[in-house]
Amino acid sequence: MTAPRFDNSYTRLGPGFYSRTAPTPVGNPGLVAVNDDLARRLGLDPDWLRGPAGAAMLAGNLMPPGADPIAQAYAGHQFGGLSPQLGDGRAVLLGEVVAPDGARFDIQLKGSGPTPFSRRGDGRAWLGPVLREYLVSEFMFAAGVPTTRALAAATTGETVIRETALPGAVLTRVASSHIRVGTFEFFAIRGDIERLQALADHVIARHYPDAGDAMGMLRGVVSRQADTVAAWMALGFVHGVMNTDNMAVSGETIDYGPCAFMDAYHPDTVFSSIDRGGRYAWSEQPRVAVWNLAQLASCLIPIMGEEQHAVEEATRVVHGFPALYQAAWLKRFGAKLGLADPAPGDRALVERLLDIMAAQQADFTRVFRGLADGSAQAEFADPAPFAAWRSDWDARRPDLDLAARANPVRIPRNHRIQQVIDAGVGGDFQPFHRLNRALAAPFDADPDWDDLCLSPQAGEEVRVTFCGT
Ligand code: AMP
Ligand code: MG
Repeated sequence: MTAPRFDNSYTRLGPGFYSRTAPTPVGNPGLVAVNDDLARRLGLDPDWLRGPAGAAMLAGNLMPPGADPIAQAYAGHQFGGLSPQLGDGRAVLLGEVVAPDGARFDIQLKGSGPTPFSRRGDGRAWLGPVLREYLVSEFMFAAGVPTTRALAAATTGETVIRETALPGAVLTRVASSHIRVGTFEFFAIRGDIERLQALADHVIARHYPDAGDAMGMLRGVVSRQADTVAAWMALGFVHGVMNTDNMAVSGETIDYGPCAFMDAYHPDTVFSSIDRGGRYAWSEQPRVAVWNLAQLASCLIPIMGEEQHAVEEATRVVHGFPALYQAAWLKRFGAKLGLADPAPGDRALVERLLDIMAAQQADFTRVFRGLADGSAQAEFADPAPFAAWRSDWDARRPDLDLAARANPVRIPRNHRIQQVIDAGVGGDFQPFHRLNRALAAPFDADPDWDDLCLSPQAGEEVRVTFCGT
């Protein structure tokens, strides 16, 4: 059994980027889950992780040699307003590991105790958001969406106080990095050009080795975000808090807080209890992405050479988002209709279907999968508009195998996540493990898991979600 070997390139950036902070040990650590597949992908030994030293590390009670735990500094626009000082308030980066194929990954504990950035928070997480992030991020990975991942979930044996006392937990999150749009904002708003440049150089080397300079990096971030947001849309995913501190420059989906997937389709869907204005509604996500990317662009101007030219070029790059997004959207939704090579005119075909779904509150996942399985019509109370649409769709000679590969049978439905959390709070993690297994191959029909394909029954539906605190 071998312990992980850390190599901490972010720490080498030096003071100002982080605060050295160890996790706060917990009373009685217990492992809920270790992700063996992910461990192997990272070159980590799953047996070590499950053993006494690993289990202690995953709860924050033991730091293996080479770990150099830090809380990262960042700022961010939250619901449009600038918070100049955020940072990891309930997370600690243990270090980076280099996988056998050379890819570098951050290993971060979330819920590991207070840091200098915690302000009034306790630095802890309770079990609910830990299980939610584990399930949803691993599903996103299985569904082919760029995302951070979950290596482990541990209980702390301690309670955290929210509205009530709840069981504490720690998530081990794996990311290609935790550098956010808000990390650039942190240095830009302080006029710290030297660190801004060092951060850009770090991100270029780590994520955009062909980019050359900050403009090339911006181009890369814009392009990856266009892809990622299109992938969210195609799954009916609502991130819920697309603040700039929750947007990773790697393009990975990060910070699964009040996120949720739609059951009944409606473009204005919002789940988060704090998103009263619907700023981060499903249909708003591409617009918000552009807004966030514009913040990144303006941060980078001081390191983009001659100012007038930099402003014009960076503006062009950000304005390039809609075209990239539209192309990614058409590719994803085209595949959902079984069209490998969608023509521009197919956009209207997709939109017509979405309009029919919205008018009848049809289930997003079941309708799209039903196209492949021949069961879509049953999802509509009034079948006539769908039947008319279907004959136009048939005329496009869809490839139903492609549609089956593009439309998951199972998603982590909100009411199922809630049931898993309720059971976990009661000490029963079987429903969590079952749902997690069922979501690992989301495109394969399996009668053992038919119950997980159902829309929520009356009374089961969960319409409001809360931030991960
Ligand atoms: P998030 O909701 O994850 O985007 O977090 C926004 C900011 O609040 C980040 O700086 C977090 O580290 C911080 N934060 C959230 N929850 C807590 C907590 N329980 N204790 C301390 N800081 C927190
Ligand atoms: Mg966050």
